[in-house]
Amino acid sequence: MTVTEKLLAALLERGVFDNEEQKVSGIAKLAIEKSFDSLSHAQKYVLSPWLSQHCTGSTDPGGHHNGCCVELDGDELLEAIELADDTECLQCDSCRNDDSYYAHQYDKLMAE
Ligand SMILES: [Zn+2]
Repeated sequence: MTVTEKLLAALLERGVFDNEEQKVSGIAKLAIEKSFDSLSHAQKYVLSPWLSQHCTGSTDPGGHHNGCCVELDGDELLEAIELADDTECLQCDSCRNDDSYYAHQYDKLMAE
């Protein structure tokens, strides 16, 4: 299975295609079963918006957004999906680190 197929499987598992037209999840399933490369050009095109997504960035405790809009695809996107609580909010590695740092600081603050 290529990373593209794993990506589609992860998205399907999380119900990302539930609100889309039925053909979208149908094509995703086909890609997983047969291989992404076996899809027609038009079918690949339908899935393309999900195969690269922008990082939603990280907001510090002061409410300042870091403005990150890194494009995630391939392994990076797969990792972001696997680690995200919400597939609408995918983050790059650096923003995930920032967020966990803020969460850590917050926990420390609360413990004092
Ligand atoms: Zn980012």
